[in-house]
Order: sequence, then C-alpha cells, then structure tokens
Amino acid sequence: MNSMKQIAKNARLLVLGAGLLCGTTLHGAEKIKILLIDGQNNHKWKQTTPVLVEALEGCGQFDVKVSTTPPKKAPQSAWKSWNPDFSAFDAVLGNYNGEPWPEKVQKDFEAFVKNGGGFVVVHAADNSFPECLEYNKMIGVGGWYGRVVGPKTPWVYVEGGKVVRVTEPAQEAGTHGKREPYVVENIVADHPITKGLPAKWMHTRDEMYSRLCGPAENMTILATGFSTMTKHNEPLLMVIDYGKGRVFHTVLGHDEEAMRCRGFYTTLQRGTEWAATGKVVRTAKVPDDFPTAKTISAVPKP
Ligand code: ZN
Repeated sequence: MNSMKQIAKNARLLVLGAGLLCGTTLHGAEKIKILLIDGQNNHKWKQTTPVLVEALEGCGQFDVKVSTTPPKKAPQSAWKSWNPDFSAFDAVLGNYNGEPWPEKVQKDFEAFVKNGGGFVVVHAADNSFPECLEYNKMIGVGGWYGRVVGPKTPWVYVEGGKVVRVTEPAQEAGTHGKREPYVVENIVADHPITKGLPAKWMHTRDEMYSRLCGPAENMTILATGFSTMTKHNEPLLMVIDYGKGRVFHTVLGHDEEAMRCRGFYTTLQRGTEWAATGKVVRTAKVPDDFPTAKTISAVPKP
C-alpha cells in the first residue's frame, strides 16, 4: 500500500473510531443521550432498569447512562456524592420513587427541564415527590403518598373525547385493579408519539393506574384505558410542556413482564425521542409485531 492510500485509510479509521467514541449511529447522527435515574422504588427497579435500558439502546438510537441514588435512610454524606450533571444529557428518565433528592439536585433538575431538557416518567415515578409542586407540574398527574383529588389537583379522565376534571370529593389519588392485559386507545392520532400506531392495541398484563390527580397544566392526553376500578377512560400516555422542556409520561410498566410489551417498547422509544428532541424521526417505524386490538405482543428476552 502506498503512503497516500495508507494515510487515507488511517484517516477513515480515525473518523470511524471517533464516531464510536462519541456514540454516533451508523448513519452518522449522534445518539440521543439519556440519564436514567433509579435507586429507590416500591417496585423492583433492579429488574426493570435493565429492561428500560434494553428498550432504548436496543433500537440503536440512544445511549443510556444509569445513575443510582443512595438507598433509603442513607446518611446525608452518601447523598453528597450523588450530584448528576443533567446538562450532559438530552433527557432524563425517571425509574425512581423514593426520598426527596438534595435541594441542589432538585433545583438543577427543575432548571434542566425548564430550560428545554426532556423528562420521561415511567409508572411509579409518578408516585414520587408528592410534596414537590414543580415535580407535580412536570408529571401532570400522579398518585398515592398523600396526593388527594382537589380544586388545584383535579382527577383527570376522558369522556366522549373531552377531558373531564373532577375536583371533589377529596379522595386519595391513585388506584388500580388486578394486573391483566388491557386495551390502550390512542385518542390523539396525529401526535408524533402515536402517529401510525393502531387506534387500539392490547397491552401485556399490567396495572392500570386510575384516578391520578395533579395540576394537569399544559398536558395532552394521548392514550387512555377503560378502568375497571373507576369505570372511566383513564390517561395512560401523556405529554406535558414544562417551561421550554417536554415531558413524556407513561403509566404503563409495573414490572418486567409489563415492560416486555412491544407497545411499551415502541411508545417508550418514541416518547423518549420526542422528549429529547421534540420530534419522532429515528423511532418512527412501526414494528411488524406491534400488538393488535385483540392480541398482545411480548418482546422476547435477549
Ligand atoms: Zn405498579
């Protein structure tokens, strides 16, 4: 090989190497950077975090870094070393339901989303931080841990295509029936997250969160499910504008089985891309094995 060819080859290898180091996709676009936060949850987060990582990284468009908080009742000194740099990421994914974060981390996180960062809320992450008004604004609605249906925190459901806001009586927010497969109905067909998906699809056995309440400001309900508990169409997939930031909230995903639904994978990928970038381009293709109105579709374990 003459020297010019060798130089050209070395240059290509350098470019390829740099691409791999920077986490670019084969098509050259940089991967979307996600920070997944776990560490405390009344759900089995050690089992579900790897599924969430696989759901995102498996499609080749995301780099996911996991940041694990100190465990419950950890000394303050343990929290001092947990101080994520949110600004290094396009979106944060919450698989956390536990003790309040240190005030500085809370403020950094609020500023991150307010200034245009993305936030993805999965299942029990909407139980977290009941006392924190800004967090409740981000998630739109949530449940349990002292949340109560009230004038500033309505219970929100959908009837005849219209959003209903119930402000009384002051009952506890959050309930669900037994775990079973259920139909997810996309009520907004032209949002990037739901575009091209079947209007109705059967979700794998899961809890259906119902009677969630909260500020519900700047919130669009994308999909609902009919609750056997409340007999209403409860929000299952939502998007919320918070400052300049975008939030995707899915109440699906109680456990590994519930997450290993092709519908969960697809909506999580799309919702995360949307929260991170405001578009759904890289994850727009509808998988061939997407569930139908009558049949679930489980994603096999790798
Ligand atoms: Zn659950």
